[in-house]
Amino acid sequence: MKKKCVVCGFDKRVENHHIIKHKNLGSDVEENLVYLCPNHHWIADFGNEEDRIWMLEQIKKITGKDGVEIDEHEKKTLFKKARRLVEETLGRYSDEEWENFKMEESFNFITTINGLRGRAGWGGRWETDMNKRAELLLLRDKIDSELGFNLKDKPQGTKQQGDELQIEEKSSLLP
Ligand SMILES: [Zn+2]
Repeated sequence: MKKKCVVCGFDKRVENHHIIKHKNLGSDVEENLVYLCPNHHWIADFGNEEDRIWMLEQIKKITGKDGVEIDEHEKKTLFKKARRLVEETLGRYSDEEWENFKMEESFNFITTINGLRGRAGWGGRWETDMNKRAELLLLRDKIDSELGFNLKDKPQGTKQQGDELQIEEKSSLLP
């Protein structure tokens, strides 16, 4: 079956959309995914609140789907992935350090993941060694892209020079 936008039927270019976003604990399972054309995808992700609610209603009306949150198993997998990414750059955490780190972050999945990327982002901001700084900022972007978090509140590709600090401050995963 040809992939097409569930809202308008456009089929020349379609994108996978998470109904519940990763940053809100949306899962990768099929029940949480729909195809959207680039325009409807943009509205779903970056439109104003009214438009985003309208999109959710359309998706629900047409597909019956209203999204699924990630389960415990998926959380574990994401944790492992995040840990691996951090360790690749920052060096290995011992199991004890890792447990302490999770304690610090109160075992909350989102704050822990955000803590990992925050650590990288903050480290990158204050690191004076430019190579290390670049490495840390790269790591933060890698966590975002590999874990599917879309933390920048604007479409990719429109990032301006000097946006970095603004993005950093707005990047909290918590509502
Ligand atoms: Zn469309």
